[in-house]
Amino acid sequence: MSVNNEHEMLEPEQELKNVGLKATAPRMRILELFQKAQEAGAVRHLTAEDIYKQLVAENIEVGLATVYRVLTQFEAAGLIVRHYFGNDRASYEMDDGAHHDHIVCTRCGRVEEFVDKEIEKRQKQIAVRLGFELEGHSLSLYGICEDCRKKEKVRRK
Ligand SMILES: [Zn+2]
Ligand SMILES: [Zn+2]
Repeated sequence: MSVNNEHEMLEPEQELKNVGLKATAPRMRILELFQKAQEAGAVRHLTAEDIYKQLVAENIEVGLATVYRVLTQFEAAGLIVRHYFGNDRASYEMDDGAHHDHIVCTRCGRVEEFVDKEIEKRQKQIAVRLGFELEGHSLSLYGICEDCRKKEKVRRK
């Protein structure tokens, strides 16, 4: 478990209890997957299909519809946040309360996170200039990651 994590990670059962959800087997396992993804760092963002495939691989009998339902419950409970990275498939990640923006590879779907003070400041200024009281924002940049660019170069030779 990462030590510099602001949000202390609780056992899935306790975490579910805290937000008023009964600790059913699918909920516990799905929350565990998110917690593991959070610890792993690089793969924090999971789609419903990612989760479904992992559960099937572990021989856990859960339908895709159940996965969607649990994700909706988790989102409503504030456990996870949803993003759309340039397609109609939602990605989810643990809501650790800390804001960050994303850059997404349009080839392999890899997602990196960043926070840039200048960008944050400029966005607030823009909102003020346009007469808005800012409630939030989501910023996603799209491009081709280094690995994918290397692969394409090899293919072109
Ligand atoms: Zn890529
Ligand atoms: Zn993220």
